[in-house]
Parts: sequence; structure tokens; C-alpha cells
Amino acid sequence: MIGVDLGSTKLLAGAVDADGTVHHRTNRPARGLSQLELVEMVVHAVESVRRSVGGEVSAVGFGIPCTFDARTGLAVQAVNLPLHDIRFADVMAERLEVPVVVDNDANCAVLAEARAGAGAGCSEVAMLTIGTGIGGGMVIRGEVYRGFAGGGAELGHMVVDMDGRPCQGSCPNRGCLESVASGTALVREVSLAVARQPDTEIGRAMEGGRELTGPMVTEMARAGDPVARGAIEVIGRALGVGLANISNIFCPQVIVIGGGVSAAGELLLEPAREVMRRRALAPGRDDVRIEAAAFGAEAGMIGAAMLAREWPDDVPSAGGTAAAGAS
Ligand SMILES: [Zn+2]
Repeated sequence: MIGVDLGSTKLLAGAVDADGTVHHRTNRPARGLSQLELVEMVVHAVESVRRSVGGEVSAVGFGIPCTFDARTGLAVQAVNLPLHDIRFADVMAERLEVPVVVDNDANCAVLAEARAGAGAGCSEVAMLTIGTGIGGGMVIRGEVYRGFAGGGAELGHMVVDMDGRPCQGSCPNRGCLESVASGTALVREVSLAVARQPDTEIGRAMEGGRELTGPMVTEMARAGDPVARGAIEVIGRALGVGLANISNIFCPQVIVIGGGVSAAGELLLEPAREVMRRRALAPGRDDVRIEAAAFGAEAGMIGAAMLAREWPDDVPSAGGTAAAGAS
């Protein structure tokens, strides 16, 4: 199986064994492309993985950061990617001439973590993938939960501040968790903090022309920069409010935190847990575990391949969280 995780800044693809082992990874930048260019880039990336495994691929699974309508098979709305109203599964199946399964990227990530990662052995697992935005996925009674039309579970767009700042991308809401706890919010937080306290490592790096990005902030924080650490703590505390909501509503055994920002590890998770323990109701507040993704940044790619493997043969083509045949 080939798994593909199409994020808002980059694509990750790889050939994935049944046990989640990845071979022949490739990655491509995805920022700033039109829908047409994006489709071409994805096709080329998959072809390159297929060539490196000698052409033998039984199906391709895709995780993409958008909502689907399972009734029409349309990828309806991507907050941070130029995809709208496209039959992505059909387009890819036609171009690649193999069966294709497509799902929301965080749904793929939670599947990987629930089957073989931080939620292995658990029937109820929630996941937040924190990058440019915040993706959400839920496994309930062992199955990915997608809601009636395929639009669930967008946990990153739960509102944590009713009159808060406008959410990003194409989300019309205000005060979403994504607007205060994503990588984008982290970068914003650091710019404000550097203006107040320019004389630390991160301030000097920016002064020297280094671009301020989420990975750069987590790297500086791990090296001990106080401004970077402070900003990650602010994001972690905001994240904790979202975790309390998830705990209260779903009470899963574990909430897995993945995506690029989760590279901050305990610097992010500790303040998040502390806020969640103070705000959530029992028994969730005491018993819901908050864990970093075991598959790290590859959870979405691995889950996409697992989804392709698990997809039942008798489900016909198209349909949002969809399988599309090659012919
Ligand atoms: Zn939103």
C-alpha cells in the first residue's frame, strides 16, 4: 500500500507494510500551488514511490486536510489548501489506475495511532494534529467516526472563545481552538513576545534574517530559549481548554497529540494537561491520557495506507471518505 499525507505545507508519501513500517518515503512542498498544480504534484509523488517499490501497489490511501460530503464524494472544503468541490478519489484513481481511498488527514492519523500507536489497544481515541491548522479525528468503538455526511470530527474548529479572533483560512467562525493553539498561533505568539523581549537566541536569529516558523520555534524551545518556551506554554494552555472539552464530551481513553507542533513534546503537553486537569469533569479529568503521537509526523501517511488496507472491497466507488475503483 502507498500512504499519502497531503498537508497544507507539504506532502509525505511512502510505501507502508501491514505493520506500519514505512519504505521509500518522499516529500514535496505543497504551499502556494493551485488546485491543478496540486493534483499534478500529488500524482508525481505517488508515481515516484510506486517506481521505487517496483510498480507493485494494490491501492493508494490519501489523507487530506478537508471536509468531505460522503453523499456526493466531494472534497468540500479545505481550510488551508486550495481544494474545493473536487472528486479527489475519482481524479486520483483515474490518473494512477489503482484503487484509491481518501479520507480526512486527521482521520487517517487517528486510525494509525489507535491501531498501532499511542492508542493501541484502546477502543475510544481522539486525536489533534497541530500544524498550520488543527486537524481532529475520533475513533469510537474501534472505528473512525465521521458523522452522518462525512464532515466529522473537526475538533480543531471547536470554539474556545466565542468572541475570539477570526479563525484562519476559509473557516467562517471565530475563536476556534485552531485560532489559538495551532502552529500559526504559535508563530504569532512568538512575534509578539520577541517584540517585547528581543534579546534572546530566537530574537537574534530573526534579527539575522532567519524565517520564523513553527519548526524553528520548537527547535529553539528545546534548546532552552525562554521566549520560545513561553510561547509554547501559552499554546499548550490554550490546547488544554480544548482537551477539557474533548474529555467532557467524549471521555476517550487517550487524546493523542500529533502534527509538527507536537515535536515540542512535554513543553507543550505539560501545560496542556495541567489546564485540562483543572477544567474537565471527573472521571475524564483524572483518567483521560494525553500522549504524543507514537508515529510522530508520519501518523497521517501510515494511517492513510492502513485505511486503504482496511477498506472493504464491496464498498463501491466514490463517497467522501471514499473508495474509488481504477476502472
Ligand atoms: Zn475554525
